[in-house]
Amino acid sequence: MAEEEEVSSDDVLMESRPSLVSTRAAHLSPKLQRRGSSSARKFAIRNLPPSTQRVTRRSTRRGSSTASTSCVPAFEGPTSSLVGQEMSSSSSPFFHPPPQQVMDDTTQQSPSYSQNSNSPSQHTFESMEPAAGGSTSMRYSPSGSSEADNPTLGLFSAQASYPYSLRKRRPCLTKDEDLCFPITAATADETPQPTMKKFKLECLSPGEARDFSIEDESGTNLEAKMETTECEPEEEEAVEEEDQQDHINRLPEELLLKVFSFLPDKSLLACSSVSYRFNQISNSHEVWKELYCNLYDYRIPLFHPSHAKFEFREQSRWRDGNPWKESHRQLHHGVHVMKEPRVNLRSVNYRCFDQIEKAQSFLEEDEYREKLIFLHTGVHEPIDTILINTDVQIIGASDSRDITSSVVLEGSKNTALTFTDGSANAYFGFITVRFRADPVCRQQPQIAQQAQQMNHFYSILVTDKDAMPYIERCDITSKVGNGAAVCVKKSAAPKFKYCTVLDCENVGIYITDNATGHYEHCEIARNTLAGVWVKNHANPYFRKCTIHSGKDVGVFTFEHGQGYFEKCNIHSNRISGIEVKNSANPVVIRCEVHHGYTGGIYVHERGRGQFMENRIYANAYAGIWITSHSDPTIRKNEIFTGQQGGVYIFGEGRGLIEQNNIYGNALAGIQIRSQSDPIVRLNKIHDGLHGGIYVHEKGRGLIEENEVYGNTLAGIWVTTGSSPILRKNRIHSGKQVGVYFYDQGHGLLEENDIFNHLYSGVQIRTGSNPKITRNKIWGGQNGGVLVYNGGKGCLEDNEIFDNAMAGVWIKTDSEPTLRRNKIYDGRDGGVCIFNRGKGLLEDNEIFRNAQAGVLISTESNPTLRRNRVFDGKSAGIEITNGATATLEENQLFRNKYGGLCVATGVTPVQRGNRIYDNHDTISRAIKTGLCLFKVSSNNSFPMHNFYRCTTCNTTERNAICTNCIRTCHRGHSVELVRFDRFFCDCGAGTLERHCHLQNVPRDNDTVYDSATPISTETGTEI
Ligand SMILES: [Zn+2]
Ligand SMILES: [Zn+2]
Ligand SMILES: [Zn+2]
Repeated sequence: MAEEEEVSSDDVLMESRPSLVSTRAAHLSPKLQRRGSSSARKFAIRNLPPSTQRVTRRSTRRGSSTASTSCVPAFEGPTSSLVGQEMSSSSSPFFHPPPQQVMDDTTQQSPSYSQNSNSPSQHTFESMEPAAGGSTSMRYSPSGSSEADNPTLGLFSAQASYPYSLRKRRPCLTKDEDLCFPITAATADETPQPTMKKFKLECLSPGEARDFSIEDESGTNLEAKMETTECEPEEEEAVEEEDQQDHINRLPEELLLKVFSFLPDKSLLACSSVSYRFNQISNSHEVWKELYCNLYDYRIPLFHPSHAKFEFREQSRWRDGNPWKESHRQLHHGVHVMKEPRVNLRSVNYRCFDQIEKAQSFLEEDEYREKLIFLHTGVHEPIDTILINTDVQIIGASDSRDITSSVVLEGSKNTALTFTDGSANAYFGFITVRFRADPVCRQQPQIAQQAQQMNHFYSILVTDKDAMPYIERCDITSKVGNGAAVCVKKSAAPKFKYCTVLDCENVGIYITDNATGHYEHCEIARNTLAGVWVKNHANPYFRKCTIHSGKDVGVFTFEHGQGYFEKCNIHSNRISGIEVKNSANPVVIRCEVHHGYTGGIYVHERGRGQFMENRIYANAYAGIWITSHSDPTIRKNEIFTGQQGGVYIFGEGRGLIEQNNIYGNALAGIQIRSQSDPIVRLNKIHDGLHGGIYVHEKGRGLIEENEVYGNTLAGIWVTTGSSPILRKNRIHSGKQVGVYFYDQGHGLLEENDIFNHLYSGVQIRTGSNPKITRNKIWGGQNGGVLVYNGGKGCLEDNEIFDNAMAGVWIKTDSEPTLRRNKIYDGRDGGVCIFNRGKGLLEDNEIFRNAQAGVLISTESNPTLRRNRVFDGKSAGIEITNGATATLEENQLFRNKYGGLCVATGVTPVQRGNRIYDNHDTISRAIKTGLCLFKVSSNNSFPMHNFYRCTTCNTTERNAICTNCIRTCHRGHSVELVRFDRFFCDCGAGTLERHCHLQNVPRDNDTVYDSATPISTETGTEI
């Protein structure tokens, strides 16, 4: 029990049955008794939980009433006020201040207790407290047994006479007692007024009436006084019963319920302390629910634990026994505003006005009354703006499930609602606020236009430094084409929560001039202009807002606007989700920016901003656009499934693009264009339907340590005068080329790991001239590096290995420089130079390749200087097909078919080459009479004298080795074709005649020449 008391508040009183009360009181009494003096008792009252207080008081009253006749006059006062003139009398002693105010109120009350020394009732009241428990329990136990002779009673009466000379009334009480419900409650007992008769009613509990010798004072008047009460006739009759039988308690419960359902709050509270039965019935949910709904219109009890905190709680979620009663207790200070004010007799405190302004001024006159206004159902149209410069709380009240929609504040000639200085803790909630153009203006658009140009009207304006209102669960809209639905300016800092700003014909929320504020869980949608504007050093905090379906931008920060946007969902806006312009610098973190009709985030005109950990996807244009000298930070975002690219930087854009995961976009993951120069680091750019990084139109950029893989087109494209620095990237597993320089693509490709592409690792085309250094280019399913169509490039210190075709191809008038590269373990030749290829090869090491270390063919003419070509599985250098070369100081050694093989008619320039330790497998095979096919099979092309057989009618394409001519074609008519790269078709079994030098006939269905390198499609130009 004790614990219950500690926790619970007034409801204890409300719910408690007398038996409980008595127990409780008994329980309390030790505590109280410990405090001997009355002052100690007062202290106790002040510090005990409200419930305790109340119990104490009530029990006191009971005690006093029952104790002795001497107390009667005293207790008659309070009792009369309790039941009697509910509307006129000051208040109920049992009404409690809201819990959060308990301590304060009690402290405030205590002076009034002690000051009201003149009231005899007060004396008895307090003096009774200590023993009240015991006596009360007996007095009010359902059994009705009275223990009037309890010794404690004597004590009561003795104490009852103790005067408290310090008592004084609170000023507010004297002014208007109804305004100070809880406070008057404390002093109610003092009111000695006409009321004792009414108390009668209360006293008529079992056993009590008998003890209660009220007749001598008021007995004659009893009847008349009873009439003044709201009691039903039956009750009066019962009271009138001369023999003072327990008639009232014999009334059927239904009847009592009916009676109680007409009583005002104060009387109900009073009744609850009459008897066990009264207590139960007067505390019943239905009685309080009816009172509550009747008063506030709400259908759910509203929890209002402290200033500016409101929450509708279903009954089951209340810890207290009677949520309706508890809610009423928390709300009863409020005044009401409705279009047609009504009378409500069920709350003593009830005040109703037809205009918010009137309610405001009423509240301002009473500094002690909680400033709470219930704005009831209907469309309220103030003439001028509702100016809020106090901490008033205004909350919509309706019996609708959707309160906000039912309560409307509408402005037409001026801003509907203005918060200004002084509204630091104002509250405004559950109300629709809208602005519609004045009907006159609407009929005459020109006037409307002029008016709008001169003035900006808002639905809600929050202005000035100390304007920090709570605005919750409001639906805000505006139907004028100029201004905004919400304007926050001049350092104001409102707290918007669970609001909607929808369907405005202009901007949704406009925040400017150093304003800040919190905006949480708001929905901002379908507005004609931007959902949110942030400008001029405004710095709002948006969290978990949804900003969508705008006909313009979702969030527009410009002209030094800032802001912090966290976990917002920004989608389906007609222009980009977030636009940053004119040195604006917002922080956007963990937001979703998606399904925009253009881009996701658009940063331009020297815009900045930090965009971190966002998910940016499914936008119609690029996920992020950076242009016109803008320099944002884009970090750790997921940028994916855009209908165009991931990040698009153009117009001399800059920016730091770091640690993002960019994938599945229809165009390039990152596109750098028109002299833009961003830093792109540590990103993953993969599985795009186009290239990974696309640098063009003189794009630059520092592109470092990215992982670029699995893209449909090139991993990195560099073109049209661009020159990025590409360093330490891992570029792999692309479905075409790794890095692609074409059409004047330049730049530096340094220390990258480029591997496992379906096409070449690197391609250089048409006038491109990159520097490619210290890369590893390997594992390609085509060549390592392909230079063609007039490509240039300087390749230095690279390692090029394990590619399916040539390590380096130089074709079609290309002229690269290769220096100090290691080109090895190729499954084809080391360096292949075809089709008028040129170039300079210096100091390279070319080794362990399956075909020629360097193959120079078809009118090519490179210069080879100081290269080491060795351990080849074919020849070191082969020159054929009208090509030539300048060979200086090269070392060719340990190659299988010989160091330098030059076809008939080829005369390279040679100077100081060292050719040694080559295996000369071909010469040896010829000496031993083997067919050369035994040596080469059809995988390589040993250079030697090849013949054709006229008898067998072989074509020029077929070649027959020397030994086969001697054996297989002995006696045939044969001729020497030339010294060149062939394998023996006789040995390969492609001729009709069976080769005598082979045991197994060979299939001729094989590739006889190096495959043509595959060049990349340019793909879709962006
Ligand atoms: Zn042969
Ligand atoms: Zn033949
Ligand atoms: Zn043969």
